[in-house]
Amino acid sequence: MKYNELGNTGFKVSEIGLGGEYLEGKPSNLVSSVVAAAMEGGVNILDCFMSNPEVRTNLGMALKGRRDKMYIQGHLRSIWYDNQYARTLDIKKVQFFFEDLLKRFQTDYIDIGMIHMIDNDHDYDSIFSGPIIEYAQELKEKGVIRAIGISSHNPVQALKAAKSGLIDTILFSVNPAYDLLDEDAERPRTLDNVFFNGKTFNGINHVRNDLYHYCESHGIGMTVMKTFAAGALLDARTSPFCVAMTPHQCMSYALSRPSVDSVMIGMQSMTDVYDCLRYETMSDKEKDYSFIFSVSPQFSMNGKCVYCNHCLPCPNHIDIAQIGKYLDMALLEGKASPTVKAHYDSLTHKADECIGCYSCESRCPFGVHIVERMKMAKNMFN
Ligand code: SF4
Ligand code: SF4
Repeated sequence: MKYNELGNTGFKVSEIGLGGEYLEGKPSNLVSSVVAAAMEGGVNILDCFMSNPEVRTNLGMALKGRRDKMYIQGHLRSIWYDNQYARTLDIKKVQFFFEDLLKRFQTDYIDIGMIHMIDNDHDYDSIFSGPIIEYAQELKEKGVIRAIGISSHNPVQALKAAKSGLIDTILFSVNPAYDLLDEDAERPRTLDNVFFNGKTFNGINHVRNDLYHYCESHGIGMTVMKTFAAGALLDARTSPFCVAMTPHQCMSYALSRPSVDSVMIGMQSMTDVYDCLRYETMSDKEKDYSFIFSVSPQFSMNGKCVYCNHCLPCPNHIDIAQIGKYLDMALLEGKASPTVKAHYDSLTHKADECIGCYSCESRCPFGVHIVERMKMAKNMFN
């Protein structure tokens, strides 16, 4: 299992995390088996946005005796009302259901107190100018939560939260289809191509790009939901790209965005766990997602680096996608921030090792001028 620093939290999280959603309604012995198998495979982060008392209790029992081996993303303002999940802005209910989470997980702390689903201005303003953010800060001061996060599907709200200086992490919906959409587009519940018909996209949405780069250069960790767009990307009939991706190609896409540290994958059976963990031993070729941007001119990424590393191998072992990410971050800010410079400095092989052989350019499906970008990176970082 590969582990990543979750922004500046000090947590070292597995790149594959366990999304708890599909464990709702499952018997407790199955929940325990899935959690145990995931942990044996190296998974050390769990997302629980669910308010259902039964699944909370089952997860708490599954973690008994090993709670300290799992980072828990527990959500604030996700409540159980009228026998179903709901969201609230009522601070009393927020407090009640957070205390319920602690009790059912049999713990006295939650690693990431995730303020749940901030997708519009109203929720953002109510939360960041009201008692919910104050409650989260108070919990953090007391050590009851160790970091403050927010979850969102909306890049405008997520970027505002990142820039507020009040949060440590974001749980965000990341997949190649959502990344193309306008920042104010409704989150498609099914990707039936309505959102994509007749449109031409000019690369990854600029607000999403800003969000990823901002978080990476300011030490805000990112975990990911909706990695498969609720399964739509796994079937050629429902994917806007009209080709099926594998789950592992979707995971690779999300994990190669700047700032992404872990993908929360919903696992509901032992087969799911083992299939998911195969990611760790797969070849780069099996995980390569670049083909989806080549199926139609509508999705062309011409001249833009999508960090896919389809252009490898490099005779000098340069990680072209990684250098591309750091260069884009520095270009966005007009200079290399100390964080980005430190990331770049930690690379084993740097841009100045490029000998201009051009072999990578012939392999890049998007016509990226890699040699020129290596020169830019050399000037930027040296
Ligand atoms: S240069 Fe091209 S092939 Fe290489 S990482 Fe960027 S987009 Fe992918
Ligand atoms: S042009 Fe530079 S980066 Fe590309 S393969 Fe050759 S040495 Fe590597």
